[in-house]
Amino acid sequence: MSDEILVKAVDVSKTFGDFKALDNVNLEVRKGEVCCIIGPSGSGKSTFLRCINLLERIDSGAIWANGELIGYRREGDKLYEMNDAQIARQRRGIGMVFQRFNLFPHKTALENVTEGPVHVLGETPKAAREHALALLASVGLAEKAGNYPAELSGGQQQRVAIARALGMRPSLILFDEPTSALDPELVSEVLDVMNDLAASGMTMIVVTHEMGFARNVSNNTAFMDGGKLIEHGPSARILSQPDNPRTADFIRAVR
Ligand code: ADP
Ligand code: MG
Repeated sequence: MSDEILVKAVDVSKTFGDFKALDNVNLEVRKGEVCCIIGPSGSGKSTFLRCINLLERIDSGAIWANGELIGYRREGDKLYEMNDAQIARQRRGIGMVFQRFNLFPHKTALENVTEGPVHVLGETPKAAREHALALLASVGLAEKAGNYPAELSGGQQQRVAIARALGMRPSLILFDEPTSALDPELVSEVLDVMNDLAASGMTMIVVTHEMGFARNVSNNTAFMDGGKLIEHGPSARILSQPDNPRTADFIRAVR
């Protein structure tokens, strides 16, 4: 992990109607860091990830990713909200892997991975194909390149989704409960791929209930409850000796 801060959220708040989904959230993630976010259902974990990659707009505060202020551009000393095209450019550097794999059903595994690089990044089909085949091999799916999502298990589909995120050459990948929709026997094959990705130096923010992954793979863990980031620090400490009783209660309940 380097000293460079890749993601920085400062006093981030987000309301839906009069419900405060995020309440002054602060978090820093360094380049090469794996940061887990844990917390009960409805605590704002998904909303926070969605704000980082601009699927939601924050109400107040600021988020920086890859050295840029998310959703805004600077002209002289003024800040302007980005338009859709500018947002799309900014989002390209941030991969996202969802609980439901969200693959294109009518495209093969290979086509799912090459779609973005060819149509968004402008890579040649040949270059995109070579990169995609290497990525599918890296997630253990070299043999499944020609298969459609419906022909793959949930674990295989999620590994394709990870390869697809990597195809866009992101500097950061957000994972939103990537193993929660999987049959229990398929969880480890996806966690193994995430483990490899972490070892390769990818910066990852991972919302998960997999305490083993949080403990063994992540550098830092943040606990969220009621839209607030309650506690954040080295995973070994947070998961064994949290300061906050709510963190302790949650960890005891999910263990
Ligand atoms: P988590 O991922 O921790 O389970 P979420 O971020 O999905 O929590 O949701 C936090 C709260 O915000 C929940 O109470 C949820 O119902 C609410 N929420 C999330 N998205 C919306 C939305 N688009 N409109 C209204 N309420 C929402
Ligand atoms: Mg969620």
